[in-house]
Amino acid sequence: MILILSPNIAPESAEYQALLGYLQHLPDIQTRIHHEQGTEQRLTEIYLIGRTAALSLDYMKGLPGVERVVRVSEEYRVLGRHQDDHRPTSFDYNGVHFGQDGLHVFAGLCAVDTRDHVETMMRALRDQGQVCTRMGAYKPRTNPYSFQGHGKACLPYVFELAGQYGIRVVAMEVTHESHVDEIREALRETGNPTGVMLQIGTRNTQNFELLKIVGRQQEFPVLLKRGFGITLDESLNAAEYLASEGNRKVVFGLRGMKTNMGDPHRNLVDFAHVPVVKRLTRMPVCIDPSHSVGSRAAGPDGLLDILHVVAQGVIAGANMVLVDFHPDPAKALVDGPQALLLEELPHFLEDVRIAREAYERRTQAFARLAQG
Ligand code: PEP
Ligand code: MN
Repeated sequence: MILILSPNIAPESAEYQALLGYLQHLPDIQTRIHHEQGTEQRLTEIYLIGRTAALSLDYMKGLPGVERVVRVSEEYRVLGRHQDDHRPTSFDYNGVHFGQDGLHVFAGLCAVDTRDHVETMMRALRDQGQVCTRMGAYKPRTNPYSFQGHGKACLPYVFELAGQYGIRVVAMEVTHESHVDEIREALRETGNPTGVMLQIGTRNTQNFELLKIVGRQQEFPVLLKRGFGITLDESLNAAEYLASEGNRKVVFGLRGMKTNMGDPHRNLVDFAHVPVVKRLTRMPVCIDPSHSVGSRAAGPDGLLDILHVVAQGVIAGANMVLVDFHPDPAKALVDGPQALLLEELPHFLEDVRIAREAYERRTQAFARLAQG
């Protein structure tokens, strides 16, 4: 059960203290308090964990300071959508709004290789009015002898250039808690010119200790990729690990499933799960067409498979597209064969707009129909 308190309630107020005093005496029930500082107000939620079945919703609603009560099912307590649950399906970070109602493109380098390539990429993004990008510094690789990413050495120039070209959020995978500290430190040293969305890759979806550490900090939002060989439920529970530790700024990423059934694509595209994740949880949903498809193959209509699957995800309501681009794919140190070219960026964005418009028209048509 979740008690949602009146906005801006002061912890020292008499009603708050009276409420806590009452909750303390409930048998077999523990409380976990969560504060969320929004732009306009501070929200406080109290999670009651344990034997809550016997508690009356109406009685709890009448307790001092309580505005609303949500009885949660066992699944995805914090991030899930529950009956009569009006909690937000969005969050703001560094001036960018991420929600189940919006759409952002994170085009960029799979792996940072040279400063020049980073700058060329960011300039192209700025010229197209983009404020988000992806830049891999820590790369988990199948082969231990493959390029592992420049790590913290590239962070200062990546962040400075991001600031210079108006990029507000850089998605960047972390595979170890030290990476979070290195990112925080590099941002501080460069004067916080941009923001970072920490990415948990598909190989670490169930690295529970990493999830707990990344979940304990609330400074950076997190993009959690679905695990490539586990059920959707298991991956959603992995996202819940982040939230249960305190970080609710979580985006859920679909990136295809590892199975030969997807051949000749690198993975079996799973974007049919976009509306499913939006229904089961309050997380914005990201699609990663590059790691799903894994090549620049095109259909007889000339459109790349990558563009086709982006359209499929966006027309189904995806909220974020994470996509590999490279100024010179032949020289890319990671995933060159699936990278789109900078000349393709305007067309790519136009294609995304077409699919998004179609999604909006679909939902409007449904709303009209539902009204009768
Ligand atoms: C990536 O986005 O760079 C990446 C490695 O993705 P995934 O974890 O989905 O393979
Ligand atoms: Mn990659």
